[in-house]
Amino acid sequence: MDYRSTRNENLRATAAEAILQGLAPDGGLYSMDSLSGLNFDWRSVLDCDTLTTAREVLTALLPDFSREEMEAMLHDAYDGKFETEELTPTVAVGEDAVLELFRGPTSAFKDVALRMLPQLMRRAREKCGVEDQIMILTATSGDTGKAAMEGFRDVPGTGIIVFYPHGGVSAVQQAQMATQEGYNVYVCAVEGNFDDAQTGVKNIFAAVEEQNLLANSGVRLSSANSINIGRLAPQVVYYFRAYAALVKSGKIAVGDKVDFAVPTGNFGDILAGFFAREMGLPVGRLICASNANNVLTDFLATGRYDRNRPFYKTVSPSMDILVSSNLERLLFLMSGDGALVAKLMAELKETGAYEVPAALKEKIAAIFWGGCCDDEKTAEAIGKIYADHGYLADTHTAVAWHVAQEYKAACPDHNPVVILSTASPYKFPVAVWEGLGKAAQEDEFAVMDDLCRATGVPIPKNLQGLQQKEVRHRDVIKKEDMLSYVLGKVKEDAWKK
Ligand SMILES: *Cc1c(COP(=O)(O)O)cnc(C)c1O
Repeated sequence: MDYRSTRNENLRATAAEAILQGLAPDGGLYSMDSLSGLNFDWRSVLDCDTLTTAREVLTALLPDFSREEMEAMLHDAYDGKFETEELTPTVAVGEDAVLELFRGPTSAFKDVALRMLPQLMRRAREKCGVEDQIMILTATSGDTGKAAMEGFRDVPGTGIIVFYPHGGVSAVQQAQMATQEGYNVYVCAVEGNFDDAQTGVKNIFAAVEEQNLLANSGVRLSSANSINIGRLAPQVVYYFRAYAALVKSGKIAVGDKVDFAVPTGNFGDILAGFFAREMGLPVGRLICASNANNVLTDFLATGRYDRNRPFYKTVSPSMDILVSSNLERLLFLMSGDGALVAKLMAELKETGAYEVPAALKEKIAAIFWGGCCDDEKTAEAIGKIYADHGYLADTHTAVAWHVAQEYKAACPDHNPVVILSTASPYKFPVAVWEGLGKAAQEDEFAVMDDLCRATGVPIPKNLQGLQQKEVRHRDVIKKEDMLSYVLGKVKEDAWKK
């Protein structure tokens, strides 16, 4: 029983149970009490290759799984799926380093975790003696759904249904999803916006639970959301890899501190950096970069979290978020007080805001530094990174880069900085092209070609020739029909293997 709810220390689970359940029954997130208690030998992994580092980090965080099991899962998850054997290469860009997390099968950083989560779920299902098939439900504004489908496709014991807003995703994202292969994969557009799709999914979970709609169906629902510890743990690995890369290149000596700048939405990616730090990796500051939706910037400055504010649609859409769910885990790990976390989360639900005690605020601010960057500055940053360093950054990466430069100016005693790069520039070609000071054509695919011709940066294979691929998914439904859609798919046999 290594995991407990962030809202109640007495609600415990094994790692496998936590992975299968996602959320704890009281609505909290599953967390260890203390990662420093793992006594992880961080120095010993610095000379290892990526998968060995991953095996060591992940068996420490998810102790139900043996090294042999973990190794088998890692091979199934990653072999031949990424552009480089390193999976997440670190490259020098000016005086900073960029940790490229987008070299996976859908060119989004979520691939790193969503390749591994299905393997963890499959084994957790066996370990817990669950015979039900697991159907994953996800609402997506574009990136998560594609990466989740690519991860779950053809994984025995699982199926996945992805809902996305009809006409609400980019042409590239639409093509990526409509052409998805796999015997256990369903994709469906919903007439409405992303919130409608997401609310629809939440309502389905609630209805199924309350009315016991899947009783005796041999199927249970689950989610691939980043609150699942099985999605968070695989992200810890690349902090170790980036650190090892800086040691190898001679930029730092073993033991020197490194600061990491992270484009942040749901607070999962940056929390993984905090995990690495707690496991002993010499991490200095974690720089939390937001776009115009700067709830976290304000929280880190004031200790008050307040979602009552306008919601902006920006050029870095994966960070357009007002409630960063994984922050709850940080509050628990830093306060060790489930009752406090439960109280703050209840306030958030009722009033949309909460304020942490001053001592906790100070403790957080000693490690986390917050900054934000609007669309205009994002475009400027894309242009400047390319002009000064010849590096083509996507919009999310540009936000982190901009905030990292502000941080360095504000904190002259900073350490070498690693900027996490979360998407290929080709996933947001129009904004990137405009950042280079060019006027974009109407057709997104044509802009990709323009960008490639002008910069010589190759288009990732999975984004090439998308228009020629066979369209396999055409379902469009009303939001009221999402539940019956799910119940229909649950009954089908095609996805049950
Ligand atoms: C999901 C995502 C983020 C935000 O990561 P969190 O773990 O939610 O903070 C940033 N950039 C891109 C491209 C993403 O897809």
